[in-house]
Amino acid sequence: MKILAIGRNYIDHAKELNNPVPVEPVVFSMPDSALLRNNKDFYYPDFSKDIHYEVELVVKISRVGKCIPEEFAHRYYQEIGVGIDFTARDIQAECKKKGLPWEKAKAFDGAAPLSQFVDKSRFANVNDINFALDINGHRVQQGNSGDMIFSIDALISYLSRFFTLKMGDMIYTGTPVGVGPVKIGDRLQASIEDEVMLDFAVK
Ligand code: ZN
Repeated sequence: MKILAIGRNYIDHAKELNNPVPVEPVVFSMPDSALLRNNKDFYYPDFSKDIHYEVELVVKISRVGKCIPEEFAHRYYQEIGVGIDFTARDIQAECKKKGLPWEKAKAFDGAAPLSQFVDKSRFANVNDINFALDINGHRVQQGNSGDMIFSIDALISYLSRFFTLKMGDMIYTGTPVGVGPVKIGDRLQASIEDEVMLDFAVK
């Protein structure tokens, strides 16, 4: 199983980090050791002093595909969840400055908390799914999949040109505006259409 993730997929988020709006998807990957399941606590890593939350819709691939045309992409996923793409912003800034890869900032152990999945048939339109993140009961991010620069289907088509997609692979689809730091003691609750699907603490 592999995890592919998309950076800067919402215009307002690209702008808040002073990044250009991309003309093609910004792609990085995470090893399976980054996943944090079953609402387990996230332990603040000792190598960073600036861990940021990013709430994202996550798509689970349901069949093998390579070079998938966008019009057939919907056949390659059945379930959608919500996750956090924790980012060591201080390390990422260093990597960016030096032109180095982001893995240390994005793909460390526990960097990718992930909810259970729900069948996409629950949603009338996958391009109109609301999702949100609350920290200590306050809403800090909300997004709608319709605001993605590259839609879920477009991402699957694009990614499959480079990486064979396999059953069980996860795609973190990018975060909307409103990212910010977490601290030890915070409680994070991520929801889809106001149903809390992920609920864990920072320790
Ligand atoms: Zn992200």
